[in-house]
Amino acid sequence: MFVIALVPRSEHIMKITNWAAVLHAVHDLRVDEIPVPTPGPNEVLIAVRSVGICGSDLHYWEHGRIGTFIVKSPMVLGHESAGVVEEVGQSVTHLSPGDRVAIEPGVPCRSCSLCKSGRYNLCPDVQFLATPPVDGSMARYIVHAADSCYELPDHVSLDEGAMFEPLSVGIHACRRGVVGMGSRVLITGAGPIGLMSLLVAKISGASRVSVTDLRTDRLDLAAELGAEIVTDLDSEVGTFDVTIDCTGAEAAVRTAIRATCSGGKVVLVGMGSDELTLPIVEAATREVDMLGLFRYANTYPTARSLIASGTVDVKPLITHRFGLDEVLDAFEIARSAEDGVIKVMVNIE
Ligand code: NAD
Ligand code: ZN
Repeated sequence: MFVIALVPRSEHIMKITNWAAVLHAVHDLRVDEIPVPTPGPNEVLIAVRSVGICGSDLHYWEHGRIGTFIVKSPMVLGHESAGVVEEVGQSVTHLSPGDRVAIEPGVPCRSCSLCKSGRYNLCPDVQFLATPPVDGSMARYIVHAADSCYELPDHVSLDEGAMFEPLSVGIHACRRGVVGMGSRVLITGAGPIGLMSLLVAKISGASRVSVTDLRTDRLDLAAELGAEIVTDLDSEVGTFDVTIDCTGAEAAVRTAIRATCSGGKVVLVGMGSDELTLPIVEAATREVDMLGLFRYANTYPTARSLIASGTVDVKPLITHRFGLDEVLDAFEIARSAEDGVIKVMVNIE
C-alpha cells in the first residue's frame, strides 16, 4: 500500500509575499501584490531574479496587443527570465529547492504531432509567458513546468540565464538558415536579436558575418562583437549564402533577397507589418528560400553549453539594470531605445 504524505508548505513559503509588474491597460503598468502560486505535481515554484525586457513586452505596454493576441484582462509581463527554485511539485525529480534555473517560457502540449516531431514552438496549444492570456514572469514568484527549467552551473549568473531566451532566437535563426563552416552571413538589424544571431553565426564557423542597421551606436556594438559593417550593399548583390532579417522592415527584407546568392536562404525573424511588397519573382527565379521563424525549440540546452563554456558571451548585451520597484523607469529606457540601450534587465529581490 502506498501512503502519499501531503507535505505542508514550509513556514518560509507561508510568509512570503508576491509582487509583479502587471499590465492593466495601455501605458498602465503597476507593481501589484498577487497571490503566491502553488506548484502542480510537475511544476516548480521559482523565486524569479532576472527578467529581460523584450520588444514584445514593450509592444503590449504601448499597444495592448500583438496581432490577434490582445490583453483583455490584467497580465503580468516578462518572459526572458531566470530564478531560484523554492519548492518542487511532488513528481519533480530533476530539480530541488535552491537550484538556479533558466526558465524556457513556452510550455507546449507535448502530445500533438508538432510537439512529437520536435517542433514544439509551433504547437497550437503552447502556453507562452506574457502572451495573453498567460501571465508572464516579471514577479517575485511564479510556478512553471519543471521540464521547461534548466539548471544553471554555479559560474553562470541569473542575468545570463535570462539571456538564454533571446540567445535561443539567434540559435534557431542560424539553425533555420543552416549557417555553418564558411557561410557568408548577412544580418539586417542590430537590435538584441540581430546581435544574438551575430554571436551564434560567428561561432558556427561563418567566414563572414556582415550587419546592417540605420543606427551607428548599434553598428559600433556589432563591430565590437566581430561583425563586418556593410555600408554599400549595392556592391554586395548576391554575395551572401544566408541573410537573417532581424528588422521586419520592408526595405530590409527587400535588401535581404537582393543580397542573398542564388540558391541561398533568407530567414525571416523580424516581425513588422503583416504584409510586405517584396521582389518575390526574383527570389523564386534565383531559388532564394524564404524561411519563416517562430521563437525556437530545443535551444535551451545549447544556450546553456555555449554560455557555460564561454563560447558565447552575452554579458556585453546587458546594458541597463533596474529593480522591480523601478520597473516604469526600466520600460521607459527600453522604449526610448536611446543610444547604447540593448537589453534592459529587471532584477527582483
Ligand atoms: P529592435 O527593434 O531592437 O531591433 C531592430 C533593429 O533593426 C533596430 O536597431 C533598427 O534600427 C534596425 N532597422 C530598422 N529598419 C532597418 C532597415 N531598413 N535596415 C537596417 N536596419 C533596420 O528589435 P529586436 O528585439 O532586436 O527584434 C528584432 C525583430 O525580431 C523584431 O521585429 C521582433 O519583433 C522580431 N522577433 C521575432 C521573433 C520570432 O519569433 N520571429 C522573436 C523575437 C523577436
Ligand atoms: Zn503540441
